[in-house]
Amino acid sequence: MQRLGGYRLTKGDRLSGDHLVLERPASQISYLDHFLKESRHTGSVESEDGDIEDNRVPSIASSRSNLSEINIDQMNNMLRHASKHHQFITRTFTSPTKCNHCTSLMVGLTRQGVVCDICGFACHLSCCEKVPPSCPVPPDQTKRPLGIDPTRGIGTAYEGYVKVPKTGGVKKGWVRQFVVVCDFKLFLYDISPDRNALPAVYVSLVLDMRDEDFAVSGVRESDVIHATKKDIPCIFRITTSLMDPPGTKNHTLMLADSDTEKTKWVVALSELHRILKRNNLPNHTIFRARELLDNSISFTKTAMSGAIIDPDRLVIGAEEGLFCLDLDQNEIARVGDTKKIYQMDYIPEEQLLVVLAGKQRYVRLVPVRALDGDDVEWVKIPETKGCLSFTTGPLTHTRSKHCLALAVKRQNSSQIILYEITRTKTRHVRLHEVILPTLAQVYSYLLGGKAVCGLSEWILHL
Ligand SMILES: [Zn+2]
Ligand SMILES: [Zn+2]
Repeated sequence: MQRLGGYRLTKGDRLSGDHLVLERPASQISYLDHFLKESRHTGSVESEDGDIEDNRVPSIASSRSNLSEINIDQMNNMLRHASKHHQFITRTFTSPTKCNHCTSLMVGLTRQGVVCDICGFACHLSCCEKVPPSCPVPPDQTKRPLGIDPTRGIGTAYEGYVKVPKTGGVKKGWVRQFVVVCDFKLFLYDISPDRNALPAVYVSLVLDMRDEDFAVSGVRESDVIHATKKDIPCIFRITTSLMDPPGTKNHTLMLADSDTEKTKWVVALSELHRILKRNNLPNHTIFRARELLDNSISFTKTAMSGAIIDPDRLVIGAEEGLFCLDLDQNEIARVGDTKKIYQMDYIPEEQLLVVLAGKQRYVRLVPVRALDGDDVEWVKIPETKGCLSFTTGPLTHTRSKHCLALAVKRQNSSQIILYEITRTKTRHVRLHEVILPTLAQVYSYLLGGKAVCGLSEWILHL
C-alpha cells in the first residue's frame, strides 16, 4: 500500500478516498504478514517498535549555529518550520479509505476521519494523537503501519476484488465487489460502473468472523449447481449465521479471479480466524438479529416497510399489503385490502399509522385499532394521489401535536403539503403548502416544524 506521506494537498482540494483507491494495484495488498507475525508476540505492537526513538522531529538544536545573525521574526518562522505539526481537518471520503495509522477502515457515510492539511496523512480521529507528530511523517516511519494490533483485532489484514452472485443467485450471474478484511470483519462494497469502477462508500454487506458459525472453504460442484464448470475451482464459500442463538446458516459465495487467488483468500481467512479464536477476542456486536419468521412465509420476501407498534407487535408493509405480526401469539394477520404498501410510519401518540399505498400512491391514515381486527375505515387523503414520499413528526417540542408533511408529484415539480394530525373523523387538517421546482427525492422531518427534502436539501420552515 502506498502511503500518503509527502502527498501534498492544497487547501480546498477535494480530498476523497479516490486518491487512495487509485494508488491500489489490482491484486490484494494486505497487512496479513504483519498480522501473522505480530500475533505471535504478546502485548501491543506499538510498544515493541524499536525505530520510533530514531525518528523524532528534526532537532532544532542541530541547526542553531546558523541562527546567530537573524532576527526574532525569522527565527520564529524557522522554528515553526522545523517543528511543523500536522494540521488535521475532518474529511468526508467518497470511497472506502483506510487509516494510515492503524490500517482499519474509516467507516461511515460522511466525516469518516481526518486528513492533515499539509502532508495529506489520513487517519481516524481517535488515531491522530498516536501518529508520529512531525509533518510529514518521516519516510522510515511510514514503511510499516504502526497501529496494527492483531491481539485486539485492529487493522486491515487482507483486501481485494471478488465477485458475488447477483440477486436471485448464481444463475443470474456474478457482480464485482471490493472486499476489505478489517477488524475481523469482511466489508463488501459495490463497484459502480458510473464512478470509474470505484467502490461506493456504503457497505453492501458485512460478514463477521466472530460469528460462531464462521467458516471458509472451497466448493464442490454439488454446492454450486448453477455455476459454470470452469468457475468452480475459483469459488469459495463463507458460512455465517448472523443469528443469536445461531440458527439458519448463510452461505456467501465468492468468485475469485483465479484458482490461485481463491486459495489465497481461503488461506488468509482461515489463518485470521485461527488468530481470532486463539486471542479469544470479545464479540462487540451491538445489534443481534433474531429470526422471527420462517422464510417460507412468502410476503416477507417483498416487505418494503415496517413499524414497531409495541414490544409484541410489528407491522410489515409488503407488495401484497399490510400485515400485523403478533410475536406473543405467534400470529400473522392481514390488515385491510390488498394494496402495495410503499412507505409506513407510526405515530404512537396519535395511535395512527400513516401509509403510502396502492398503484395511485395515495396517503392513507389507519387508526391502530385496525390491527385488532376492528372494521376501521382507512382515511384516504384525496389530494395526495401520486405521493412521492412523506414524513411525520411532532409539530411542537412538547409532542402534543403531530404533523404529516408530504411531497406529491406534479409536472416537473413537487407540491409539498403540510397537515396537522387531529382527533376529528378525518384525522387531518391542511395547514400549508408550497411548490418546489424539482422532484423531491429525499424527505425527512426535523423537530420543531422543519422538514428537509429534495436532492439538494431544501429546508422548509413550515
Ligand atoms: Zn501532516
Ligand atoms: Zn486508525
